[in-house]
Amino acid sequence: MKVLFVAGESVPFIKTGGLADVVGSLPSELKKEGVDVRVALPLYKDIPQKFKDQMVDITNFDVYMGWKTVYAGVKTLKHQGIQYYFIDNLEFFNRDGCYGYWDDGERFAFFSMAVIEMMERIDFIPNIIHVHDWHTAMIPMLLVHKYHWIEAYQNIRKVLTIHNLRFQGIYNPVVLESLFGLDFTSFKDDGVKYYNSVNYLQGGINYADIVTTVSPSYADEIQTPEFGETLDGILRYNAWKVYGILNGIDTKIYDPKNDPFIEPNYGVNGYNKKMEVKEALQKELGLPVDKDIPMIASVSRLSDQKGFNLVNEILEEVLQTNAQYVVLGTGEESYEHSFKYFQQEYPDNMRALIEFDAEKAQKLYAASDLFLMPSAFEPCGLSQMISLRYGSVPIVHEVGGLKDSIKPFNEFENTGTGFTFYDFRSSVLKDKIFEALDLFYNQRDKFKMLARRGMREDFSWSASVKEYMKLYEELLEE
Ligand code: ADP
Repeated sequence: MKVLFVAGESVPFIKTGGLADVVGSLPSELKKEGVDVRVALPLYKDIPQKFKDQMVDITNFDVYMGWKTVYAGVKTLKHQGIQYYFIDNLEFFNRDGCYGYWDDGERFAFFSMAVIEMMERIDFIPNIIHVHDWHTAMIPMLLVHKYHWIEAYQNIRKVLTIHNLRFQGIYNPVVLESLFGLDFTSFKDDGVKYYNSVNYLQGGINYADIVTTVSPSYADEIQTPEFGETLDGILRYNAWKVYGILNGIDTKIYDPKNDPFIEPNYGVNGYNKKMEVKEALQKELGLPVDKDIPMIASVSRLSDQKGFNLVNEILEEVLQTNAQYVVLGTGEESYEHSFKYFQQEYPDNMRALIEFDAEKAQKLYAASDLFLMPSAFEPCGLSQMISLRYGSVPIVHEVGGLKDSIKPFNEFENTGTGFTFYDFRSSVLKDKIFEALDLFYNQRDKFKMLARRGMREDFSWSASVKEYMKLYEELLEE
C-alpha cells in the first residue's frame, strides 16, 4: 500500500502545533504496518539548515495558476526511513513561519497543485492521498475536477483529516478561476460553495472518500451547531464517512526516562527526581525554590480556544496562594500582555515565557505538578497526553479529545488521571484548581499516586494506527 501524506507542517522540520506532531509521527507507525508512506511539505525558510543540506533536487516544473506560470522545485530527503518531498518556491515559502499571510489561499492552492503534479513526475502514484486541514483540503476536489484526465490518478483514494475545524480557508469565488484554473462546476453546496465564498475545508469534506478527525468525541461534537464552526450541516450530510481516531504521541520524544533536556531523568517511581527537575527550573526562572510549592504549567498557543479567557479571570486568586504558574506560549497579544502583567505583579508566583521552544516545553512538562488546559473546544490535544507522561497532572475541560484522554479523578475510589470539569465557567475552573492544590498540599501520597497512574497510561500510536489501517484497507477494497 502506498500513501502520500500532504500537510502544511511536520516535526522535525517545522511546527506550529499538534498537526506537526501528528504528521511527524503517524507515517513511521504506518510504515511499521508495511505501508510505503511518504510526506509532502512546503520548503519553508525556517526549516533548519541541517535538513536543507541533506536535500537533493529531483525535478522542477511549472504550475499554471490562472494566468500565471509558477515555478515548482521538488527536493527530497529521507529521515528515519521516511521519504519527504519539499515543494520549493521562493515567492511563496521563503518567509518566516508557516501561515498567517494575506496570500495563504494562493500559497496553498499552489502547494496543492504542485504536489498533485509532482506525483507522476517522481513516479510515486499513491493508492491513497491523505491530506490534513484546510491547507491541503482542495486536493480531493482538484483530483475530481482538474486532474481527472490523468489516467494514473483515477484510482487514488482521498482521505482528509481535520485537526482543527476552526480554520477553514474561506476565499472569494474568483480563486476557482484565477488560482485553480477551473470553472464553477464545484461551486455548489455539496462542493466548495460556502455562502458566496469558496471554503477549502468544506471542499475537502465533500470530495474526500473518508473524513477523519482526531478524537471520537470531536467527531460527534463537530456535527452540532455548538462545535460545528458553521460546517455542522455539511458534516451531518457527510456523517456516513466521518470517523474519529484519537491521536497518539511520539513516546520516544516525550519520555521522561530518556529526555535529553531534563536532569535528572525519571520514571514512574521517580517522584523525588521529578522534584529535582522542578527545583532546577524554579532556580532557572528565578522563582522561590521549594519542592513543596506546587507548580502549575501551560504549554500552548495563547488563544481563546485554549480557555485562557477563563484562566485570566481567576489567575489572580491562584497567584495569591503560594502556587506558581508558568506559561510557555505565543499567540494573541492580549494574553501575552496579561500574562506579562501578572508576572510583574506576582514575581514570586508567575512566569510568562512568550516564545516557542521545544526544549523549554519538555522541561516544563517535567518540572510541573499540574498542567492547565481548560480548552473551550479541543479536537484532540496532545499537551495533556504529554503532561500525563511526565507526571504533571492535567486540569482539563471535559470536551473533545480532552474528554477522550483524561479520566476524572475520583478521590474515594482512587481512580482517574486528572482533574476535569464540565461547565465552561471560570468559577468552576477555579474550584477545580483549588481542589487540585488541596490534594497537593494535604494528601501528597494520593497526589503522587494520581500522577503515577497518568504516567502509566498508554498514549502511543499502537491502537490508533490499527484504526487508520482498517480505514485504508476498507477504502481500497471498494
Ligand atoms: P494545538 O495543535 O491546538 O496547538 P495540541 O495540544 O494538539 O494543540 O499540540 C500542541 C503542541 O505544540 C504540543 O506538542 C505542545 O507541546 C506544543 N507547543 C505549544 N506551544 C508551544 C511553545 N510555546 N513552545 C513549544 N512547544 C509548544
